[in-house]
Amino acid sequence: MSISQILEKIFMPRKCILCDDLVEHESSVPFCEECSLEWLSNLDMLCAKCGFDCDYCTCLPDKVREISSSLATFGVFYTPNVQTPANRVVYRLKRDYNFEVIRFCAEIMHKKIIKLCAKHSINYKDFVVTYPNRRRKSERKYGYDHAKLLAKELAKKLGVDVIECFENVGKKEQKALDKTDRLHNASESYILIDNIDIKGKSIFLVDDVMTSGATLNICAKKLIFAGAKRVIPVAFAKDTKPNTSNFNE
Ligand SMILES: [Zn+2]
Ligand SMILES: [Zn+2]
Repeated sequence: MSISQILEKIFMPRKCILCDDLVEHESSVPFCEECSLEWLSNLDMLCAKCGFDCDYCTCLPDKVREISSSLATFGVFYTPNVQTPANRVVYRLKRDYNFEVIRFCAEIMHKKIIKLCAKHSINYKDFVVTYPNRRRKSERKYGYDHAKLLAKELAKKLGVDVIECFENVGKKEQKALDKTDRLHNASESYILIDNIDIKGKSIFLVDDVMTSGATLNICAKKLIFAGAKRVIPVAFAKDTKPNTSNFNE
């Protein structure tokens, strides 16, 4: 071990992104031993519709399928309102700035994008990345826009550009609304920035979670309206019980 590695170990201890316990510098995941096991159990979660794990499930909420056919992907499963490790990662991503969390989520999404693109013979280098911005009020409250940081990190990994397309003027959080109100709220919240040039572009639309798919649906439609060639939604986590009527691909 070099002197700089020893100093790093002493002065920059790695902390578990779920519980803040110390993590071995050599560990391949940003979790302590206990949380690593919990994370593995999260990866073992199965889709309530198709019965596959997160690597093989291709079920999408209807609102996402409507805009992207089967071209969308997600990292892991979560269950809304249940304390799964993925929920806890998302909670930290939104409320507690820590670059390790952002990097971890982006890494997982990056792998899934590479896999999706290989399967469909898509060149991801032809894409740009954009994201539905966080509400201004929340950005002020927590001091950052997690969706923006996630999109930037993911774009860096892919070696492509990020284009800022939206402004979020929403008054209400999507999470607080039921399915029917989510579309309406998303439509009013995400406003396209003037003079963005996305004509003919292929876009990865990046968000933290895919629940009803309302945000992704509305933002994708607005991007297409502004001239985008195609939009592929990508989320870090997807509900294990997606709201979908046609889940057999
Ligand atoms: Zn831990
Ligand atoms: Zn499934």
